[in-house]
Amino acid sequence: MMTGFEVAVVGGGLMGSSAARHLAEAGVSTVVIAAPEPDNWVAGAGPFASHYDSGRITRIISADPVWAELAVRSIGRYDDIAQRSGIEFHDPRGLAWLGLGIEAAVQNSKGRGGSALMVTPEWLYDNTGIKTPATADMQCAFEAAPAGVINPRNLAKAQLVLAEMAGATVITAAADAVQPTTRADDSSGVGISGAFGSVAASRVLLATGAYAADLAGIDLQVRRQLRTTVRIDLGPAPEMPSLIIEPVEHPHINDLYWNPPVRYPDGRVLFKVGCEIEHAPEADNADEIAAWFAGSGDPVEADALIETTRSLLPDARFDQLEIVPCVITRTTHKHPYIGWVDDRIAVALGGNGSSAKSCDELGRLASTLFSDDGWDDPILDAATFEPQLL
Ligand SMILES: Cc1cc2nc3c(=O)[nH]c(=O)nc-3n(C[C@H](O)[C@H](O)[C@H](O)COP(=O)(O)OP(=O)(O)OC[C@H]3O[C@@H](n4cnc5c(N)ncnc54)[C@H](O)[C@@H]3O)c2cc1C
Repeated sequence: MMTGFEVAVVGGGLMGSSAARHLAEAGVSTVVIAAPEPDNWVAGAGPFASHYDSGRITRIISADPVWAELAVRSIGRYDDIAQRSGIEFHDPRGLAWLGLGIEAAVQNSKGRGGSALMVTPEWLYDNTGIKTPATADMQCAFEAAPAGVINPRNLAKAQLVLAEMAGATVITAAADAVQPTTRADDSSGVGISGAFGSVAASRVLLATGAYAADLAGIDLQVRRQLRTTVRIDLGPAPEMPSLIIEPVEHPHINDLYWNPPVRYPDGRVLFKVGCEIEHAPEADNADEIAAWFAGSGDPVEADALIETTRSLLPDARFDQLEIVPCVITRTTHKHPYIGWVDDRIAVALGGNGSSAKSCDELGRLASTLFSDDGWDDPILDAATFEPQLL
C-alpha cells in the first residue's frame, strides 16, 4: 500500500488532471489514479471519458457569465501549461457563433477582454465559407484568437506532466473502490484500491466524469447522455473556425457545433460535428456506458448532423465519414459539481458538454477545497457548483 498522501485524485481526465496540477503546485502531496483510455473501445469495459477526442471548441463567448469567466481564466493559462509541459494543445483559429439574441453572449466575451464582435452573414461567408441559414432573426458573431480549438487528450497529458513535475504520483490504472478508513492514530482517511494495489490518503477528489461518485457509493443527480458525433474528411483541410449554431431547423436536432479539421492520433485530419437533442438516451451505470462506446452511435442523429453540415458548408467536399459515440454528463444546475459530498470525499465532475476549455480553472477551484482557506473566490460562488445528491 502507498500511504502518506494528503489528497488522492481519482480520474486523470480534464478536471482531474487540472486539479492534480494545482494541488501539487500548491505543495499538497497528491496521488492521481488515472485510468488509461481503452485501446479497443469495442472490447474495453472502460472507464470511458468525455475527452477521448482530438478537438474541443475553446471560446470566451457564452450566454452564461459563469462559463465566460471560467473560460477566460483557463485560456489565460494555456500558454504557460503548453510551454512548461512541452505539450502543445491550443490552435487559436477563432469561433463563429450563430444564434438568436446573441448580444449578451458577445458582451460576456468583450467584458472579459475577449474579441467577440457581431458580424454580417456576408462577412462570415466571405471570410469562412460558412453560409448563415435564412432563419428569421438569426444573428452572427465572430470571436478571434484565442478562441478556436484545443486537443483535450493533449491538455490532460500536459496537466499530468506538470503535476508529476511538481511532485505528484501518477498511477495509470483504474480504481475499483474508494472507502473511508480509520488510521492507527484514529484519524480518518480514504483507501483507494484497484489492480495497482491500494493507496491511502487523507481525502479524495473524485474527478471521474460520467461515473460520478459511484465508486464511493454516493448517488449524485447526474444525467449521462449517450451522444453521437460525426467525423468527416473534408479533403485538403480548409482554413475554418470552430462553429456553434443554435437553433437549427431540423426535426431531430436543436443546434450544431463543429471543430475545424484537426489531426487525430492515426494521422488523419478530420472535421468533427455534434449537436444537442431534446431527448438523448441516458446510461444508468458503467455497463450501459461501455455498451454505448462499443457501438456506433445513433444513425438518425448522425444523418441530421451530416444534412445540416452540408447546408452550412455548401462548397465543402465530404470525402469520408465516421460515426463516433460519446457521453456527456449533465448536472441539475448546468454547472459542474465541485464540492464536498462527504467529510473526506469531494467531487469535480459534470462537464455539461462545456468543460474542456475551462478545465484548468475548474481544477483550480476544486484544488481550493483542500486548502486551509477553502473556496475563496470574489466572483465565482461555491453555491453555483454545489453537488446535488439524489
Ligand atoms: C462529443 C463531445 C464534445 C464536446 N465538445 C466540447 C467543446 O467543444 N468544448 C468544451 O469546452 N467542452 C466540450 N465537451 C465537454 C468536455 O469534453 C467535458 O466537459 C470534459 O471532458 C469533462 O471533463 P471531466 O474531467 O469531468 O470528465 P472526463 O474528461 O470524462 O474525464 C474523466 C476521467 O475519469 C476517469 N475515470 C473514471 N472512472 C475512473 C476510475 N474508476 N478510476 C480511474 N479513473 C477513472 C476516466 O478514465 C476519465 O479519464 C464535449 C464533450 C463531448 C462528449
